[in-house]
This record gives sequence, C-alpha cells and structure tokens, in this order.
Amino acid sequence: MPSPRYWREVPNRFRLEAAKCRACGKVVFPARRICPACRKSDFEPTALSWRGKVVTSTSVVVAPTDFAQQAPYAVAVIETPEGARLMAQVVDCDPATVVPGTDVRLMFRKITQEGHGGILCYGFKGVPAA
Ligand SMILES: [Zn+2]
Repeated sequence: MPSPRYWREVPNRFRLEAAKCRACGKVVFPARRICPACRKSDFEPTALSWRGKVVTSTSVVVAPTDFAQQAPYAVAVIETPEGARLMAQVVDCDPATVVPGTDVRLMFRKITQEGHGGILCYGFKGVPAA
C-alpha cells in the first residue's frame, strides 16, 4: 500500500501544484508553511509550467530495487520558469546527455509499481525537449 506521504503529495505529483508567497512572490515546490525568502506564511496555490531547465544532474547506475530495471538513468534538479525547483528522473534519453541547461518537458508517467501486480504510483518525469 502506498504510504500516507504518497497520498499527501498527490496535488504535487499529479498537478504540479506549488505555492506562491503573497508577500514576496517566491514560488515554492512542494508547498510550505513558511516562505524561505521572507519568512511570512501567506501563500496561494499556483500551477507550475510543465517544462523547465536542468540545474544539476547525476546518473544512477546502481538503483534501488524498485528502479533496478530502469538503470542507468538520470535524476536532475529542474527549475521551472516560475523559479520553483524540483527533482525528477529524466527519461527517454542517454543519461550522459542530461547536463545543466538541458531543456526538459515534464510529463505524467508511471513512477513505480508496488510488488507484482501491485498498486501503480504515478508522478512527473522529465523528457528532453525536442
Ligand atoms: Zn515570501
């Protein structure tokens, strides 16, 4: 069974829902209670663009059990045009080609399956933009 945390993160994972600080405009993802820029706590929900730029990345060769069949794969910190940063797997490419500055589209994909015939967990992944 997916953890309660997975369910709590559904708005983030399914809709890329972030929070925008009403005081200073900082966009944080996932949503927080306190703004890291101005320390105020007045946010409004905001949707992120389904695209961004790689800030930093790494290749995963020895993967956790659930992801072993996908290795090697790239994991990157991606910054959206709104200034939010998120971490995602970058797929459908050679992991070595995922470098800082790479433009990616964010896509809704299957992340993992819990056990044989188990529950599917979905979320976002990056794909290099054509
Ligand atoms: Zn703020």
